[in-house]
Amino acid sequence: MADEPPICSHCTRRAVIRDRTTGEHLCRDHLITSVEDRVFRSLEDEEHLPDVLGVAFSGGKDSSALIAVLAALAGRIPVRMIALTIDEGICGYREETIRAAETIAAKYGVEHRIISFRELFGKSLDEIILGEPGRACTICGILRRRALEILARKEGVRVIATGHNLDDMAQTAVMNAISGDVKKVFAGREISDHYAKRIKPFARVSEREVTIYAMLAGVYHALPECPYAGFSLRGEVRHLLNAYEREHPGTMMNAAKCEETLRTALGPVYPAGEQIVCESCGWPASSAFCQVCMITGKGNPRN
Ligand code: SF4
Repeated sequence: MADEPPICSHCTRRAVIRDRTTGEHLCRDHLITSVEDRVFRSLEDEEHLPDVLGVAFSGGKDSSALIAVLAALAGRIPVRMIALTIDEGICGYREETIRAAETIAAKYGVEHRIISFRELFGKSLDEIILGEPGRACTICGILRRRALEILARKEGVRVIATGHNLDDMAQTAVMNAISGDVKKVFAGREISDHYAKRIKPFARVSEREVTIYAMLAGVYHALPECPYAGFSLRGEVRHLLNAYEREHPGTMMNAAKCEETLRTALGPVYPAGEQIVCESCGWPASSAFCQVCMITGKGNPRN
């Protein structure tokens, strides 16, 4: 006889997910409530929520689920959302995800702004990394961050919510530890007029929960994977952490919490040294030219 499907730990309905850490089963409705409550609490914990909240919106499942949760919480958290999308210019991948983003923004009636690497830096990511796919994620991360800040500033956004989930947080913690660079623990927390504050409402929600939430909300689309994803260290770390989580439930939560504890112990930001600004663009830099200008060639005195 086939096994009976598991039943929700809180009601008599069929479960759609089992929390490996607690062993609890959740049905559709209890999962939705659980995810929305965790996001609500994380937003409540923010000292000051602005009237306008930017959402970094790639069109992928995490940021799409975030738009859906924030729309569901609109009555409890009355902020105006602006979805911010960066078109890096990745052929065979970005066109489709941007179409998905436009569809979802329209579904929820959310204002949507898009800006591209080409508009800002004169070239697409494909053109910048030509022939060196191993550099793609590093360069993409640096340029996308700048692009998002520029777009946010243009829209008057000073706080940006990102779709990073618990798995992402754990991967970042492990990658930071591997790099041996303590400064990375503070990445994205710089205090400067140039940077909007980042918040991560899904920081305590696992990738599986976000994925199922996105499916239940009807915002999950099977989209192509970025062709450069296979070259990233994150992919390797993800694979390892998933295996650890299966054998040792709670690994991801512990890794994410460990980095948070470290950050709390060290203070809100990395002790600032001398403040330098880029000679070319005027953004904060760690040497004469910022990383963006070095990548785009503006940091080369011959240009
Ligand atoms: Fe950018 Fe790498 Fe992500 Fe592709 S996988 S979008 S190159 S960071």
